[in-house]
Amino acid sequence: MRFVKILFVGFFPISLIYGVIRASTLRNFIMTISEDLHARSNSKCELCSDEGALNIYEVPPNSDGSADKSALICTNCLDQVEKRTAMHSDHWRCLNESMWTQEPAVQVLAWRMLKRLSAESWAVELFDMLYLDEDTLQWAQSLVEEAGDTGSVVHLDSNGNVLATGDTVTLIKDLNVKGASFTAKRGTAVRKISLVPDNAAHIEGRVNGQQIVILTEFVKKSN
Ligand SMILES: [Zn+2]
Repeated sequence: MRFVKILFVGFFPISLIYGVIRASTLRNFIMTISEDLHARSNSKCELCSDEGALNIYEVPPNSDGSADKSALICTNCLDQVEKRTAMHSDHWRCLNESMWTQEPAVQVLAWRMLKRLSAESWAVELFDMLYLDEDTLQWAQSLVEEAGDTGSVVHLDSNGNVLATGDTVTLIKDLNVKGASFTAKRGTAVRKISLVPDNAAHIEGRVNGQQIVILTEFVKKSN
């Protein structure tokens, strides 16, 4: 009985101390990541160099929350990266500089954003110049492949806006329709589109009374 009592009295403070140490370690850990990112970026958005409100963005998928797997980016960049707001393609000309970073997490973001901007010739040129080592390239591509694996294919228009069945889109260039004797003119509105389930690059809609397949990179979502 005496033994049990001593053990209990002895055990309680140790677990309490352990809890205190854990909490402070965690706090130090978070502080360090934030400090690391601020030091690495000179407290500027790692994509567009903006010095406004900066956020720690854990670059998906499987970010472990470390500085190496995160980027410090402004709210404007973050909203577009996370598709909460429409893509402003001119904003992303900032990648012209930031894509040359040595930080893999930032390289991955640059790669993904340039890929989403593939309707812009300047973005395609940058994309072609962007070199990622094998591991980083795999990381950059893993998000796209993950979406495919789960069957949740996301269709994006030329500005990176998410398309849904029933949307109206506008063609951004003249398109020769294969197997039909007409050109779908730039500016044509295509109403009530449907999404090709297994191909994120294809949608379907009626143009000139014919159901045709259209590449998402050549359309812009209408409001
Ligand atoms: Zn930014």
